[in-house]
Amino acid sequence: MSVIYDRVALIGLGLIAGSMSLAMREAGLAGEVVGYARSAETRATAEEIGLVDRVVATAAEAVQGADLVVLAVPVGAMAEVAQEIAPHLKPGATVTDVGSVKQAVITAVGPHLPENVHFIPGHPLAGTEHSGPRSGFASLFRNRWWLLTPEGEVDAAAIARLEDLVRGFGANTERMEPAHHDLVLAVTSHTPHLIAYTMVGVADHIKRVTEGEVIKYSAAGFRDFTRIAASDPTMWRDVFLQNKDAVLDILGRFTEELFVLQRAIRMGDGPHLHDYFTRTRAIRRGII
Ligand code: NAD
Repeated sequence: MSVIYDRVALIGLGLIAGSMSLAMREAGLAGEVVGYARSAETRATAEEIGLVDRVVATAAEAVQGADLVVLAVPVGAMAEVAQEIAPHLKPGATVTDVGSVKQAVITAVGPHLPENVHFIPGHPLAGTEHSGPRSGFASLFRNRWWLLTPEGEVDAAAIARLEDLVRGFGANTERMEPAHHDLVLAVTSHTPHLIAYTMVGVADHIKRVTEGEVIKYSAAGFRDFTRIAASDPTMWRDVFLQNKDAVLDILGRFTEELFVLQRAIRMGDGPHLHDYFTRTRAIRRGII
């Protein structure tokens, strides 16, 4: 594949940025990948394992001359980073982010950016429970969705170019309204994560079942919950704080349904449970 951006700056060098760098380099999509992360330890690791072509000591230095700037830090850190890089951006550059929440990122980042750059927020629907500079791998985005949520008058050629990059990772891409993105993700990702955190927390609090028993007899359902609940605490704290309204909406509906199921179990209402589980099975069969 041919080079899409001569120079790419990655701000944050964790799972997502690391995977982007490996994918870009594997497919020859970038002339040079420059990386910056706040922690000196992360920068040293990135340097040691050759995660990017060049590790630099400041965000300002990273974005100088970059054609594409990727903000790959926790959602709560986006505003601070945008402010830091804004005066150093190359005119005509594209700035994107990979944050799991879109409206809050747009509100946090947009006002800091100069008018002569293209701001195209994005979100790869791909991840693992691992984080940090050693966790990335080139195939992370293959056959996954990468949603772009540009608002207003954004240059069509700049969007098409970013879409080419994302397709170069093997991902599929679609455009979505930021508010709709946040609601969809509250349903498909954010609330399920909260439920997993809760279930693992509940298991931890039941003193009559020991931790050893929970680990030893962990069946598939609980095992999946623990994998999800092992995700990065900073990232997920920020997701819930920044997608508050959509998550509270979905969580409210979840709680209502849970009460109905709780009542059906208490009342021995087998038909209700059977009907409910038949409908949910149909949804699962639609996904596969
Ligand atoms: P990560 O914890 O693996 O990496 C985050 C990186 O950001 C680290 O290198 C850290 O040093 C750096 N960082 C933190 N604060 C910073 C700051 N103020 N300035 C500069 N660097 C800073 O996280 P990740 O999983 O790569 O997530 C990054 C972004 O991608 C988040 O916004 C997250 O919401 C989003 N995302 C994550 C997943 C996932 O499943 N992990 C999936 C899709 C999108």
